[in-house]
Amino acid sequence: MKGTPKRLHNSASVAPDKCVFCRIVRGELPAEKVYEDDRYIAFLDINPFSRGHTLVSPKAHGETIWDMDEHDIGELFMTASEVSKAVVEATGADGFRFVQNNGEAANQVVAHVHVHVIPIAMHEKGKVMDRLKLTPEQLAETAKKIRESLARN
Ligand SMILES: [Zn+2]
Repeated sequence: MKGTPKRLHNSASVAPDKCVFCRIVRGELPAEKVYEDDRYIAFLDINPFSRGHTLVSPKAHGETIWDMDEHDIGELFMTASEVSKAVVEATGADGFRFVQNNGEAANQVVAHVHVHVIPIAMHEKGKVMDRLKLTPEQLAETAKKIRESLARN
């Protein structure tokens, strides 16, 4: 499909110099990174829906999936797929969700494209998930397990 779609409204829109995810990419803000290559980065969500909830983003700033070309969208999801295997292994989850929100109406909080990888245990099936408050130590421990799993596979 070609053509320029309309812009999606997001009151969180910012220039790349102010963007939280661009700042993580540049190393200006801390994050529990689990994966990084020259074009993509994955790090833990600091307010996760479950332990191991990871965000996978292109390093290049774009607000929504419409700002990416189709090849890059494919690569983003291939990266997310690889990350998901490590997230599930590290957390002992029984399943996982990909969630990819575009626009404020869709609950996109940070206006920089990202795919949520949310591991889910069987006992959480069908439950409404609330954001967890995890300590920095808990986040660090989970990130370490995911990195170790990625390194093994
Ligand atoms: Zn950005």
